[in-house]
Amino acid sequence: MIIIPPKNHAGIAGKAGSQFTGSVFPYMTMPSTDGVTINTVNFTPCARTYWHSHENGQILLVLAGRGLIQAEGGPVRVIRAGDTIWAPPGERHWHGGSPDSFMTHTAISLGVTAWAEEVTDDQFNAVATEGER
Ligand code: MN
Repeated sequence: MIIIPPKNHAGIAGKAGSQFTGSVFPYMTMPSTDGVTINTVNFTPCARTYWHSHENGQILLVLAGRGLIQAEGGPVRVIRAGDTIWAPPGERHWHGGSPDSFMTHTAISLGVTAWAEEVTDDQFNAVATEGER
């Protein structure tokens, strides 16, 4: 058994760049083991991932707040604390905070994550309205 104290988590405050838009506070909950990576990510309002997919799928456990998620070709959905999401292998999607709320989730990612293009402000603003209905 290994207990990993918070001070040992590989946190990157306010990370932005080729994976996230806006301010997010991710930390690695458990280093990658046998193709399984567990990260907890705090999204500020409107912050979100880039489009991406997971080789063998991903489980999201929403711990706090309210956020948005969209699979390519599908509607934007509101996600809330207590929700569990399964993103199947290879399905392109993004997830993040809602326009007016933080959102914290633990992400259990299976296999390699393939990162793609940014979710633009126009895309996010258009779909966020849809997601609020
Ligand atoms: Mn994902």
